[in-house]
Amino acid sequence: MASLSQGDLADLNQAMEGRTPQELMAWAKNTFGSRAAILSALQRAGAVVCHMAHATKTDLEVLFVDTEVLFPETLTTRDRIAKEYNLNIITLTPELSMEAQTAKYGVLYLSPEGQTQCCDMRKSQPLLKMKGKYDALVASLRRGDGEKRSKVPILAVDPNMNCLRVNILANFTDQQLADYIKEHNVILNPLHFQGYATIGCNRCTTPVMPDEPKRAGRWRHLGPWAMYCGINPTDLDRGTDRAIDLPQPLIDKILGRKTDFVI
Ligand code: SF4
Repeated sequence: MASLSQGDLADLNQAMEGRTPQELMAWAKNTFGSRAAILSALQRAGAVVCHMAHATKTDLEVLFVDTEVLFPETLTTRDRIAKEYNLNIITLTPELSMEAQTAKYGVLYLSPEGQTQCCDMRKSQPLLKMKGKYDALVASLRRGDGEKRSKVPILAVDPNMNCLRVNILANFTDQQLADYIKEHNVILNPLHFQGYATIGCNRCTTPVMPDEPKRAGRWRHLGPWAMYCGINPTDLDRGTDRAIDLPQPLIDKILGRKTDFVI
């Protein structure tokens, strides 16, 4: 195993800026094969990524975390996307039901500390169970979402999962997203048409007013300090000293280096 840091990706990230999302998805598939998957909560951008996989026939599994307190509309959207886009969506679930968790720890999502713990148990830990199965996760974070995502790189190391996040929509603008959805009639969570700009658990998501930031409806009861669940490492930390461990030939492939084994 060899180390690949965020800093090592700087030149490649710059070169990737000119590629389309479809080209980036193809790069992920060609580079990682079946050790790449899509990670999506199936919101607007995630649904677009799924449509792109379908339209380009890029055979990638989709990982979807069901916290078991999602809106029914979200689960219906998942089922529609799986069926109509012919995608293998793997649903990951927490160890404890919400009832069992509440009996053991109390109602966590009502305090900032509890939210962190609850999101960890119901979102991050289910994903972590897949650690070791994938070297790359294709995701849908966009700079256009603002806040901590305003500088999200296309390629980001994910030390927790020890894999590379490939944010194929990083530089896709709001207008490009809207145009793609319209042009391809992308399957969307119906809650997006009811004022929900972003959609998470039913306990912690509300619609937003037209003049509010997109993420104002997430953890509204906690105030603006609890903006993210933590499942995406770039939401929490933008340092360049983070690193992951991958086989050297794979790192060479990622970085486009030729490996010469002739002695
Ligand atoms: S969004 Fe709320 S209910 Fe869902 S996992 Fe996080 S704290 Fe728990």
